[in-house]
Amino acid sequence: MSSITIDLLKDKVHEECGVFGIFRKDSELDVAALSRDALYALQHRGQESAGIAVNRDGQFVSVKDVGMVSEVLTDSAMEVFEHQGDIAVAHVRYTPYDSLDRASSQPLVIRYIQGSMSICHNGSITNFSEIRKELEEGGAIFQSNTNAELIAYVIATMRTKCDTIEEAVRDAAVKIEGAYSFVVSSPSKLIAVRDPYGFRPLCVGKIGRSYVVASESCAFDSIGATFIRSVRPGEMIVVDDEGFHSHQIEEPQRQALCLFEYIYIARPDSMLECGSVHYIRQEFGKELAKEYPVEADIVSGVPDSGNDAAQGYAEQSGIPYSTAFVKNKYIGRSLSNVKSSKKERLLKMRLSVLRHQVRGKKVVIVDDSIVHGNTAQHIVHLLREAGASEIHLRISAPPMKFNCYFGSNLEDKREMASNTMTVDELCNFIGADSLGFIDVDKMKEITAKGGMGVCDACFTGDYPAPVPKENFVDKFSQKISH
Ligand code: SF4
Repeated sequence: MSSITIDLLKDKVHEECGVFGIFRKDSELDVAALSRDALYALQHRGQESAGIAVNRDGQFVSVKDVGMVSEVLTDSAMEVFEHQGDIAVAHVRYTPYDSLDRASSQPLVIRYIQGSMSICHNGSITNFSEIRKELEEGGAIFQSNTNAELIAYVIATMRTKCDTIEEAVRDAAVKIEGAYSFVVSSPSKLIAVRDPYGFRPLCVGKIGRSYVVASESCAFDSIGATFIRSVRPGEMIVVDDEGFHSHQIEEPQRQALCLFEYIYIARPDSMLECGSVHYIRQEFGKELAKEYPVEADIVSGVPDSGNDAAQGYAEQSGIPYSTAFVKNKYIGRSLSNVKSSKKERLLKMRLSVLRHQVRGKKVVIVDDSIVHGNTAQHIVHLLREAGASEIHLRISAPPMKFNCYFGSNLEDKREMASNTMTVDELCNFIGADSLGFIDVDKMKEITAKGGMGVCDACFTGDYPAPVPKENFVDKFSQKISH
């Protein structure tokens, strides 16, 4: 075995959260149980913590902790809900930082002068530091660095000047900037808000007469709910005893759904806006085959998110699709409490090659992105060791060159391989015979079929919204946690 140094921990784009909410109109529904099932479907969006808060006659009961859904929301933990309650909100969280504490787990349950609420959030508030400073100077004391706690504080502050909770949420949404899809439960209402750019997905569905909201539609499939539509950028949805209400609180200036939702983050069986994630990833693969054709014996994907684009490449090129890698699904998901050195070793073990599939063959391998290049180097190394005669790497994302300020863990562009190497140098570093990245404009043509514009700032530097003045570090030198 050669000794490649691998930093697999930060060599993928990660997202920070999945949210879910339900307002029960059908008395037989168990909102806590449905929330847990929905969180299982959203687990790919965050594996660091999980939680549910249920509103029972104005009293909030919650279970949340660090860990996977199956570890936190056990059958015995769920007994506290007693199968009761009319409204629930639920959350899974990813954090790239070492802030694995229960106080940062969501949903947050807040008690303030006008009552109580529970809240959970997905995204990243870009004026976090300014708002937090303003609140702290007014005497606020925070228990965490989460965006959710900041939003809750702003809502509570606004509530003193507003007649209703939805007016306070509306005013809070106008005050905060950046990427946010959040869900709030008051004692009698479920409220869901998406920022005016639509950075993070949020959709609404129905189960019986009851309404549900979720980061992705795959959560609806898991509970037997029907996808109605995406929450529009700048829209607030309120569900109460009177029914479903839509309020356009801010007009979208530019549609900017995170392109990485299509590339990697979202589940292939989800609908983003009006587009199937699986279909769009296949289209990316077809485009790669047009831009970077090559003679080869098989096309394969790096599981799981490279598989759909690989199928598209195979269909377009006529080269047979074949499985080259097996992924150990039990490694790499629940690593919250594992030391870094052991994490790297476990992640390295996660992929293994089907040797007989690649030995002596020219292989096109499709992956979703290259951040630092170490993962791609590891993959090519595995294929070489297994006897592949040629390895042609195709990437269903453009070269990454810029930081993300809207909720993904891309923070230091100096470490991005495409900023330090040309494509030829990177190909050489990785050890592949050829390397090709999809063209960003072609991607935008393809995603336009999904019905909404995208953010491509980490590829182009064209930020759709203002970026933070203070670069994600507050006055305590702690990372803001999502
Ligand atoms: S900068 Fe990149 S990762 Fe961040 S929201 Fe935009 S497309 Fe997504």
